Amino acid sequence: GGADIECDVMVLGGGPGGYSAAFRAADLGQKVVIVERYSTLGGVCLNVGCIPSKALLHNAAVIDEVSHLAANGIKFGKPEVDIDLLRGYKEKVIGKLTGGLAGMAKARKVQIVRGNGRFIDPHHLEVSVTTGNGREESGEKTIVKFSNAIIAAGSRVVKLPFIPDDPRVVDSTGALELKAVPEKMLIIGGGIIGLEMGTVYSTLGARLDVVEMLDGLMQGADRDLVKVWQKWNAHRFDNIMLNTKTVAVEPKEDGVYVTFEGEQAPKEPQRYDLVLYATGRAPNGKLLAAENAGVAVTDRGFIPVDKQQRTNVPHIYAIGDIVGQPMLAHKGVHEGHVAAENCAGHKAFFDARVIPGVAYTDPEVAWVGMTEDEAKKQGIKVEKSVFPWAASGRAIANGRDEGFTKLIFDPATHQVIGGGIVGPHAGDMIGEICLAIEMGCDAEDIAKTIHPHPTMGESIGMAAEVFEGSCTDLP
Ligand code: FAD
Repeated sequence: GGADIECDVMVLGGGPGGYSAAFRAADLGQKVVIVERYSTLGGVCLNVGCIPSKALLHNAAVIDEVSHLAANGIKFGKPEVDIDLLRGYKEKVIGKLTGGLAGMAKARKVQIVRGNGRFIDPHHLEVSVTTGNGREESGEKTIVKFSNAIIAAGSRVVKLPFIPDDPRVVDSTGALELKAVPEKMLIIGGGIIGLEMGTVYSTLGARLDVVEMLDGLMQGADRDLVKVWQKWNAHRFDNIMLNTKTVAVEPKEDGVYVTFEGEQAPKEPQRYDLVLYATGRAPNGKLLAAENAGVAVTDRGFIPVDKQQRTNVPHIYAIGDIVGQPMLAHKGVHEGHVAAENCAGHKAFFDARVIPGVAYTDPEVAWVGMTEDEAKKQGIKVEKSVFPWAASGRAIANGRDEGFTKLIFDPATHQVIGGGIVGPHAGDMIGEICLAIEMGCDAEDIAKTIHPHPTMGESIGMAAEVFEGSCTDLP
């Protein structure tokens, strides 16, 4: 058939996976088109995910930090919050970054086609042009013909069937709009996204309840890490309901009434001013007419790929949230590079040993590779070394010595195979453990690496030294 636009590589979706793939392919000499329904690049991560949440969390962390200084003789008044200005700050942050991405696309001559894409056949995509900031279609259509395609269409919020349409019941996107600070807020789902948003609202004045079906908050992280976070944050919560199901959410005039089921569940429905549901995200695989291109999609909407990010159709690749867990931006970015390099005729593989996870709460909780809990579950023998921040000069000086750094070792080789950190800036520190695992470092390699003193990052070297049985008295 005819085509309005022809390209070497068509990238469907302009999120972190998609734009990373597009830029890499362009750098390798390919003619690249990104199809994106929204007016900006950046996808969920930049527009309604990673970045806006961190813009708000930063402000919350500063408020919390200064509140601890009273005991040191430095007293601030109660913060006055202008919520419109705060929201404006968050939007400015997004704007700077989406503007930057547009510039980077232009510099690489990556063409952006605005609209909803659906496959017509294995080499053509029909784009229904969208306008405004949303998904309203103008009726106009553009056909893009491509040699290779990279599907990077991401994921969306799952709305459970009992969630009503009401402005006081929001998903993460609604919570990020930060319209007002409620008195009493419920978070349904005790994962990272819910707890990060809860941190923001609670610092701004909300009392929190959280309900989780499983037996602990922040699934995936080791329990000893989570325990430290939970103790530090106990003051935020009225009620943490574990092993508890949410069965009804009823908006009434004076609040939203929520009914729970389970041993720890309150018998009566509870009243809230705001309910955030953060129970998971679903991949967008079924919304692309992928079958017209012959691309296999699972029942749940994931697109299976091989180590080269290829779908079952060899010239069509997929990356990011749409190919599976963990649904994290940094995973999508790396998969995007692999797909782009393969499109350009290189032979690239996604062979990361580990993908780190971080909760940007206060304190932060970060983990990577083998966890202690996972090793126990799988019956794998590991050894560990823990360096408590109570022995870190810097953490004590900062008044934040609640955390610890843990390394997990293979007992046979002493190679580091996992790690976890809880404490301020844990997320910034975990990268070193990722690198150690990727490089096959053993305890001695880390212990003999000179870390700057006094830093919290030093705790990684100290944990390795402790394991080597030769800890000095540095702090
Ligand atoms: P997405 O970012 O979902 O982008 C997909 C893009 O494709 C979207 O822009 C969409 O509009 C477009 N699209 C979809 N279908 C079509 C179509 N048919 N036609 C045209 N365009 C289409 N991850 C982290 O690593 N760190 C964090 O701190 C973090 N915080 C988060 C906080 C929140 C509140 C949320 C919701 C998520 C967070 N995530 C975080 C997850 C992260 O946002 C995702 O993993 C990441 O955005 C996935 O990137 P992606 O490129 O696969 O897809």
